[in-house]
Amino acid sequence: MPPPVFRFAPSPNGHLHLGHAYSALLNFDSARQRGGAFLLRIEDIDATRCRPEYEAAIYEDLRWLGITWEEPVRRQSEHFGAYRDAIDKLAAQGLIYPSFESRAEIARLVEAREKVAPWPRDPDGAPLYPGTAKTLSPTERERLMAAGAPFAFRLDMEAAIARAGSLAWIEQGAGPDGEAGEVAARPEAWGDVILARKETPTSYHLSVVIDDALQGVSEVVRGEDLFWSTSVHRLLQQLLGIAQPIYRHHPLIRDEAGQKLSKSTQATGLRELRAAGVPPTKIRQLVGLP
Ligand code: GLU
Repeated sequence: MPPPVFRFAPSPNGHLHLGHAYSALLNFDSARQRGGAFLLRIEDIDATRCRPEYEAAIYEDLRWLGITWEEPVRRQSEHFGAYRDAIDKLAAQGLIYPSFESRAEIARLVEAREKVAPWPRDPDGAPLYPGTAKTLSPTERERLMAAGAPFAFRLDMEAAIARAGSLAWIEQGAGPDGEAGEVAARPEAWGDVILARKETPTSYHLSVVIDDALQGVSEVVRGEDLFWSTSVHRLLQQLLGIAQPIYRHHPLIRDEAGQKLSKSTQATGLRELRAAGVPPTKIRQLVGLP
């Protein structure tokens, strides 16, 4: 067996908190214990929310925690070409279509449908895309594109599943005795997900799958909030013919009220804790790591 490859993949859209420290340390420790590699990846595809100062702070905070990583760091914003190639591959299979509605228009469409019957929601609680643009004629699509209308490329989920068949991923801890076990993927729960936008030629789902494969990541250890996203990731791996890693979705660090941590809280931000004189060893203790 080749040595395992782990990664931590934050988005530089805010400062790191205890939840990030837990995830990063878990990956780093696992790589060390198993003689594997630890990679850091900067997920900065969203130019409107990501900032260089947050990226610099990520490096600083991780170093302070005693974490080291392999160079060079992969920054997603430098690899839009790789994601575009994947979109082309999916388009060649007839699995992608452009949709032109704004968020507000989609909300109105869903609202109208909800008056008639409950409308399905994805695992994150967002209403599924109603599929309205799927039936546009090729001429109409071309006309809208040529007119410079904003668009999003969506995966035709029904066609994608028909092509890929039923899928499962390997999850550490999902076996009957806590060992690795199979989880049945349910990509249909997400509907026709967005894979790229006019202004950002990729999406979280697409770039994470491409990068994990390109970087040879063998074990994805990340928060349980991303558990069901893995259904979409597994589907994309199958459609693109790329390797699937093993997954482990860890519990999230929560605040006293049981809420998920946000990027900007005084009590749990790594910068704030450091400024208050908390040492890195104490951070380990706070997140329950030895
Ligand atoms: N960039 C994602 C985040 O900050 C994590 C992606 C992943 O681990 O798959 O939430």
